[in-house]
Amino acid sequence: MLTQAPRGTRDLLPTESYRWQYIEARMREAAALAGYREVRTPVFEHTELFARGVGDTTDIVQKEMYTFQDKGKRSVTLKPEGTAGAARCFLESNLYADALPCKMYYLNAPIFRYEAPQSGRLREHHQFGLECFGAQDATADAELILLAYRLLSGLGIRNLSVNINSIGCPKCRPKYHEALKTFLSGKIDHLCEDCRTRFDRNPLRVLDCKKASCQEQVKDAPSMIDMLCDDCRAHFEELQSCLKAGGIPYQINPRIVRGLDYYTRTVFELITSTPDGNLTVCGGGRYDHLVEQLGGPDLPAVGFGMGLERVLMLMDAEGIRIPEPAHYDVFVTYMGEHRLKAFELVESLRAEGWKADMDHCSRSLKAQFKYANKTGAPFSATIGDDEAKNGTVILKNMVTREERTVPVREAGKTLAEMRKEEQ
Ligand code: ATP
Ligand code: MG
Repeated sequence: MLTQAPRGTRDLLPTESYRWQYIEARMREAAALAGYREVRTPVFEHTELFARGVGDTTDIVQKEMYTFQDKGKRSVTLKPEGTAGAARCFLESNLYADALPCKMYYLNAPIFRYEAPQSGRLREHHQFGLECFGAQDATADAELILLAYRLLSGLGIRNLSVNINSIGCPKCRPKYHEALKTFLSGKIDHLCEDCRTRFDRNPLRVLDCKKASCQEQVKDAPSMIDMLCDDCRAHFEELQSCLKAGGIPYQINPRIVRGLDYYTRTVFELITSTPDGNLTVCGGGRYDHLVEQLGGPDLPAVGFGMGLERVLMLMDAEGIRIPEPAHYDVFVTYMGEHRLKAFELVESLRAEGWKADMDHCSRSLKAQFKYANKTGAPFSATIGDDEAKNGTVILKNMVTREERTVPVREAGKTLAEMRKEEQ
């Protein structure tokens, strides 16, 4: 127990964190290019926010939340998604009083869902998410889809399929609900238990069920797109014109409805196929009534969430190499009695911007070299008896074995020369 992380969680080891930092840097760049700035909201929120915001007919709220009572007897919940917290923050800080839209992103936000852990499905995962508040035009939806597509393909991920759909608005959706219910009513006995509940509470979500047997049943279900009102249709058409202008391939997929109640009009997913089946790496859409539902002004919004673990998983599966930064530039080795001199050298090298280190484990000089080699440091800097006496240091290229003995104060300068000659 003590040495085992909770099921469905994962440690990020010091040897692999560069992989995360790499994709995070690309995500920040992508967001900044489109004017999104970072927001950071708490890991937990009042439970009510998700019940109200995400919707209490969703799997997330019904089954997946990490909810507990704190010592003040308040019910709090670990974030099961990013949008509700961002919308709460947007309202609480009156950001709607500024010129709109308000564009924000969160990166590496931990998300908690009590799901059955399996490949690509964790109980704690991390998301890169963008939210654009106050923009009603389809250009805002399109820029998000393009941003996600370009980011992922820029990371080297191939075979991305962009699936879009429109699930209408409160004006046109009720009619579709009825049509769908009529269609499904003859099939209730063939639906899973969850879908039977969905049938009563939110029939649209039957389309979202992952069970193959349910997917088979809804194969010929009526499509929302055929029943969109004029405004929703025009919006969906403009979205498609923008995607075409952006030059990315997309397909209309009437089965994409998304699992959260707050969506309106545009919904989309970026899907790739893996040996284990299809994997959604990014999902999002428009949520024109969420802000109002949370007690704010009637204000449209659109956003997406992308799972960082899934991005890395796909990069692994496709054999995309992420450049690993050098752990050290130079490793200082020394004879035992000169530890203080070695320490001073390490500190002065670090002050000049060299990634430097020394032995902290009382190793022999020979063992220090062995360790230095293991770290992959391209240079060593050695202080033996002669060097200590003369105020010098032996710099060595660990690959070519070339050595230079120079005054200690010139160590950094000489290392720079040796590195330059190497290139
Ligand atoms: P799925 O259909 O796979 O359950 P979702 O619709 O529940 O996904 P969203 O709520 O849209 O997912 O979350 C956005 C993204 O976060 C997903 O596209 C996925 O990349 C990632 N994600 C969601 N749930 C998990 C999880 N349990 N483990 C790892 N990543 C996840
Ligand atoms: Mg899910």
